[in-house]
Amino acid sequence: MERAVRVRFAPSPTGPLHIGGVRTALYNYLFARQHGGKMILRIEDTDSQRFVEGAEQYITDSLRWCGIEIDEGVGVGGPHAPYRQSERRDIYLKYALQLVESGWAYYAFDTAEELNALRTEGEKEGHIFAYDHTVREKLATSLRLSPEEVRERIDRGDQWVIRFKMPVGRIVKMDDLIRGHVEVDSSTLDDKVLYKSADALPTYHLANIVDDHLMEISHVIRGEEWLPSLPLHYLLYEAFGWQDTQPRFAHLPLLLKPTGGGKLSKRDGDKMGFPVFPLFWQSPAGDTAHGYCEDGYFPEAFINMLALLGWNPGTEQEIFSMQELIDSFSLERVSKAGARFQPDKAKWFNAQYMHHKTDAELAEIYQPILKAHGIEVSDELAGKAAGIMKERAQLITDLWDLTSFFFIAPTEYEAKQQKKYWKGDNPRILREVREVLASIDDFSLENTERIVHAWIEEKGYGMGQVMNTLRLALVGAGKGPGMYDITAFIGKEECLRRIDYLLEHVTPAE
Ligand code: GLU
Repeated sequence: MERAVRVRFAPSPTGPLHIGGVRTALYNYLFARQHGGKMILRIEDTDSQRFVEGAEQYITDSLRWCGIEIDEGVGVGGPHAPYRQSERRDIYLKYALQLVESGWAYYAFDTAEELNALRTEGEKEGHIFAYDHTVREKLATSLRLSPEEVRERIDRGDQWVIRFKMPVGRIVKMDDLIRGHVEVDSSTLDDKVLYKSADALPTYHLANIVDDHLMEISHVIRGEEWLPSLPLHYLLYEAFGWQDTQPRFAHLPLLLKPTGGGKLSKRDGDKMGFPVFPLFWQSPAGDTAHGYCEDGYFPEAFINMLALLGWNPGTEQEIFSMQELIDSFSLERVSKAGARFQPDKAKWFNAQYMHHKTDAELAEIYQPILKAHGIEVSDELAGKAAGIMKERAQLITDLWDLTSFFFIAPTEYEAKQQKKYWKGDNPRILREVREVLASIDDFSLENTERIVHAWIEEKGYGMGQVMNTLRLALVGAGKGPGMYDITAFIGKEECLRRIDYLLEHVTPAE
């Protein structure tokens, strides 16, 4: 019988969630939804050294913004609660001890100083010290010490760890849903720490396997950086006798720098001016980082863009709603090769979503920005202004620059445009245009256009000359939509007021 699909996103709260992590969460979510399964959020916070205040909240806020829904886990609850590993600390020791008992693990009493000395010695001899089968029987471990000595050391309060006893000469055979079949000789692997008495906490490897087992996880979909841990994880399932319910694994390709070489980092984003985090982040020390949300991206566009970084649908389709992603996603079409992040493509996706927004949707997005600039207008006007300019906007944050002149009359004029058009006959012609406009009753776009154009033709004026001068008066710059979009939007009175302002306040050049 097919197992019920249960996947988990298991971040460690060590800082803001990188977009690579968001993509991992997204693929888990798509996979869960497609198979009618459950999406679990587990917080892996057993490494107290790397814990960062606020990071967990950031993770849940980010997932919410992205529309990635959690069925079970931190913040939601569920049958396997708690889902925060620090709150499950009592669970793990039993499992670590079980492995010592069965010979799959052992106690090690080496102090930090002793381990450092071994490392330094290794360096001197030109090799990297590894805690593995070549040394474990020579060091302060329960493999060398007598059971009495081990007991004595534990009883007198010496600090200890439990290490996995990596088998020697085993070919570990693994199957990955993306990478295919992989084999590794266990002799090349070291003996990882599973549990530490110092803080009475398991390490990532033990907690991760035990929890995946207890939480009945069916598929582990995670970043490629965990592939080197896979042999250990396979062997842990074997050591516990849990092979029958071992999850299937899928290791996702890295997100690469725009230049292709290496993992996409915050530094790349800072250098090239794009965010690598979903939301704005402020660390406890006060360092800040940009986020897609505050930089003006729609969550749907952000998700669409991320989904296609490493997965392709096998068709030309690029625009996908969350539901379409759920329907089309498959792990088989996730590539093995790293996916190069393209900042321009991210903007392109956002622009596609922008262009498809209705005025009502735009009003909702734009009103808070208008309010922040002290502009109080109806939703209708807010939506209309954004709607007129949406084709030229890529980001939500572009809207203000593109439309502010609808709401604020110019009092300063772009130097280049002023120099070019505020001279010669133009002020006189603008006065005449003012009279024409003043005489129009029906100020609708079409009517104004018809009347003004007919008048320009009759007079034999240059169309560009008149329009550019009028634009200088109404916008204060050489930008904006069609002239009559502007006249219709701001209305007759405001048009006349803006023209008068230019005429009265700015002396034309000769
Ligand atoms: N806590 C690990 C991380 O932050 C989880 C890795 C896994 O999914 O097994 O990446």
